[in-house]
Amino acid sequence: MSSAGICEWQATRAAALERLRSFVPFAGKYYATQRNYDGGPGDRSNVSCLSPWIRHRLILEEEVLSAVLGMHSKAAVEKFIQELCWRTYWKGWLEMRPAVWDDYRCAVGRLKTDLAGNMALHDRWERGICGATGIECFDEWARELADTGYLHNHARMWFASIWIFTLGLPWELGADFFLRNLLDGDAAANTLSWRWVAGLQTPGKAYVARAGNIVQYTRGRFQPHGQLRERIEPVVATAAPPGKSLPETGQPVAGLNIISDRKTIGRYLAGRCRRYYLCGQQVAMASEPPCS
Ligand SMILES: Cc1cc2nc3c(=O)[nH]c(=O)nc-3n(C[C@H](O)[C@H](O)[C@H](O)COP(=O)(O)OP(=O)(O)OC[C@H]3O[C@@H](n4cnc5c(N)ncnc54)[C@H](O)[C@@H]3O)c2cc1C
Repeated sequence: MSSAGICEWQATRAAALERLRSFVPFAGKYYATQRNYDGGPGDRSNVSCLSPWIRHRLILEEEVLSAVLGMHSKAAVEKFIQELCWRTYWKGWLEMRPAVWDDYRCAVGRLKTDLAGNMALHDRWERGICGATGIECFDEWARELADTGYLHNHARMWFASIWIFTLGLPWELGADFFLRNLLDGDAAANTLSWRWVAGLQTPGKAYVARAGNIVQYTRGRFQPHGQLRERIEPVVATAAPPGKSLPETGQPVAGLNIISDRKTIGRYLAGRCRRYYLCGQQVAMASEPPCS
């Protein structure tokens, strides 16, 4: 990692291994205490920036885990391992509920048709994706996403929350914008994170972007006081369907793509992410769903 921690994502395994090598010394206390700060594209020293390579399988979670556990105790890298687990958890959650993906894809199709006939919605959507809303932080993140294909996790949360609750735009169109622009764009992590911000994933509990939080965790780069809607109502929708049940043995079941007991990751994800590891990137994306 360069001293400024600038990320460049060459699509090679060698580049992924180099980024991992330079991040590993920072994966312990430094990551745990500093990871929430978004220093902008010029300072990514507090996060791994490994997601595009992990997403495209140029490097695997097992390798990342082995590397961090090779230098730190499990306790020291607990926070980093938890974050890595989120990816596995989201993939498993969606793979067990493919209807959630189908519904999302149908909604995107419907909303894109609506955009053509609803000028007010179209105008707000266009200003959102072009970074022309007048909310400086939001506009900056929209441009950063288009220019670099990456946003810090906290910026993704703030962006999604402002999109839904301040701009009043449908979460599905925001998720679609992310999926088309993120180098790490992933059906499960993206769709379910947007649902989580909207309050659909944990019913009744949405994520609110607050000006004070943005000032603090961007170290004053942005000051959106008075520009954000901070009193919000979570998006309401029907409950997600129950997940397909999994056998306790961890044996593969028909229709689910499961690898059980992978060495390192199996040991550390067991218990937290349950005793299975789901693979396959394009969850249920093989064909367009039939939309009602
Ligand atoms: C609205 C929204 C959309 C998102 N869309 C995606 C997406 O399409 N693809 C994606 O990989 N992540 C997504 N995330 C999760 C998270 O923001 C990114 O994984 C993380 O910012 C990637 O940067 P990093 O590699 O520096 O992460 P680090 O903090 O260094 O974490 C290490 C690895 O753990 C995994 N990880 C970390 N946090 C999360 C998380 N919250 N959920 C899932 N996996 C995580 C990633 O593989 C990441 O590379 C989204 C989050 C939000 C709030």
